[in-house]
Amino acid sequence: MASLFLRKNERVILIKCILCAWEAKTLAAVKERKYYQCPRCSAVFLDPANYLSSIKEKERYEEHNNDVEDPAYQDFVAPVVSEVRDKFGQQHQGLDFGAGTGPVITKLLREKGYRVALYDPFFWDNPEVLKGTYDFIVCCEVIEHFHSPLKEFGRLNSLLRPGGMLFCMTDLYCESMDFQRWYYKDDSTHVFFYHPRTLEWLKGKIGFSSLEIKGRLIMLGASLLEK
Ligand SMILES: [Zn+2]
Repeated sequence: MASLFLRKNERVILIKCILCAWEAKTLAAVKERKYYQCPRCSAVFLDPANYLSSIKEKERYEEHNNDVEDPAYQDFVAPVVSEVRDKFGQQHQGLDFGAGTGPVITKLLREKGYRVALYDPFFWDNPEVLKGTYDFIVCCEVIEHFHSPLKEFGRLNSLLRPGGMLFCMTDLYCESMDFQRWYYKDDSTHVFFYHPRTLEWLKGKIGFSSLEIKGRLIMLGASLLEK
């Protein structure tokens, strides 16, 4: 990292990437919220000083109030359900991590005979669930809420059995997009955005065995390393 030479009374605020700890650069300011991008892993993140309190964060999630019977909501998660059904059978054990107020993926998979446990720090806070291991984990519209993405992905990998797979859905960021006009940043609980290079960095760091990106669906294979 470059060293800084400051004149007297000059203040430079440095912020480190909340994923890889590299020195990040300012990307944009949107009203009072500041966003940074990491030159190493390409992640874009909200200044932690702009995070909502956990009470306000929970209130915001409660506003979502996703209806598991809503056909549009079911269509939205269909790519995850389809990939899980292609790759895993009813003998496999699944986890819906960050299931939220309306765990629609769990509902659709359970209807097909799959066993899926639920976890969410706000709505399904059952720590026992995190003591188990799983063949597949679905994490739908969750990873953009992570305050500590490295810790969370490490935990998700540790919850996977050998041969297991993590299925995430999020909207990816890339340079061709106009960040100021990007709808996805406007949700005040969305604090961390992934570039395809961010996912490559995570794969290397955690040791995921594979990475496949299909639109907003991301599939990561369980690490082959000793956990
Ligand atoms: Zn980084």
